[in-house]
Amino acid sequence: MRYHLIPLGCQMNISDSERIVTVLENMGYESTDHEEDADILGIVACSVRQKAIDKVYSKIHKWNEWKSSKNLLTFVSGCLLPADREKFLRRFDLVFTINEIPDLPEMIRHYGIMTPGGVTAGRDIRDGFWQVEPTYTSPFEAYVPIQNGCDKFCTFCAVPYTRGREVSPPSAEILDEIAGLVNKGYRSITLLGQNVNSYGLDRRSNEMSFSTLLHEVGALTSGHPVWVYFTSPHPRDMTDDVLEAVATYPTLAKQIHLPIQSGDDKILIRMNRNYRVSGYRAVVESIRAILPEATLFTDIIVGFNGETEEQFNRTAQAMEEFAYDMAYIAMYSPRPGAASARWADDVDQDEKKKRLRILTEILQRTAGERNNAMIGRTVPVLIEGRDRQGYPSGRTEGRVPVRIAEPGPELRDKVTPGRFATVRITDARPLSLFGEIAS
Ligand code: SF4
Repeated sequence: MRYHLIPLGCQMNISDSERIVTVLENMGYESTDHEEDADILGIVACSVRQKAIDKVYSKIHKWNEWKSSKNLLTFVSGCLLPADREKFLRRFDLVFTINEIPDLPEMIRHYGIMTPGGVTAGRDIRDGFWQVEPTYTSPFEAYVPIQNGCDKFCTFCAVPYTRGREVSPPSAEILDEIAGLVNKGYRSITLLGQNVNSYGLDRRSNEMSFSTLLHEVGALTSGHPVWVYFTSPHPRDMTDDVLEAVATYPTLAKQIHLPIQSGDDKILIRMNRNYRVSGYRAVVESIRAILPEATLFTDIIVGFNGETEEQFNRTAQAMEEFAYDMAYIAMYSPRPGAASARWADDVDQDEKKKRLRILTEILQRTAGERNNAMIGRTVPVLIEGRDRQGYPSGRTEGRVPVRIAEPGPELRDKVTPGRFATVRITDARPLSLFGEIAS
């Protein structure tokens, strides 16, 4: 019997899907790429955009039509707003939260469907979501959730309503998972959470802080060929002890993703971000002082409700000042369920596009300058595969993409995906590098 699972949205949902896959495969189901061939059809939903929710409705409409000619079980999980959850309960056979993944075998059994490999998936998964071992999508790159949910309530975001309040797993389980990945030869591990630097706060004094967790991860991975990342920290809670932990261990990658969202204090207040530009600047200064080699990434929203040209100009100034290596810039659109969805989306679409273009130009200039400074250096690159033009490609420790000149046959094994290659940087583009295998 087969299953077909569709993860929508962000890396967190893909990580959750890896755990659902484990549960289904432990029950004896096999994956199929073709939904028509599946006996179990599932979606890990995303509520960030209405388009993603519309996709869930269109899939379940089709799947329910198929039910007149075959036996099918359908489920939905992931980021669900309470109102959508109610509606999905009438359309899907099973609707469950990510925390209920360990109960999935029981739910399927109660539904009365035959299971190919028995009912339960083993004792371990009964102990909780965090103990379900994921079926990793990549053989060398893994995401380890260290926190689920969010307590911050940014006005543009629905995550606190879809995923609930912050929950951290025990550090012993995180460290076990990382030790297992290192032993399997994983080369890139990303600690994942909505606010990774709030790690452990929900467990009061019973759990270590995020910086202590990083020290443990650094010590555990020391001497192994692996880069460990984390995303995303919240600027409000970003402290020097986190940066110092990253500086201490070569395996903790020198790359920091620090979402600024806006360079204007009034907009930050309306976004409920709980920091000012001056506070953000202090964190960036610490990053530059403690981790001078680190690349700096960010997230920015342009055209947030009420954003004036003057306020936008402050964001443009902030982009110039902080000289990011990468910025994920989004034009504001109201997200269903978020507080700001009740406010007018009052910045004209063409104006949003103009603001996006201006920030993109600044990014290309500042990142391009930093990339140009890499020319002539020899650096390790984690090979990921081939790019669209068929060249070997990978990323630096700072997560800058690198295209590598096709090596001769004697060096071809150096560009095997999942290997670290020593690459001499020969050229740079605004957002990427070019290089050749160093002999
Ligand atoms: S954007 Fe704000 S509310 Fe949404 S997950 Fe991040 S910190 Fe939490």
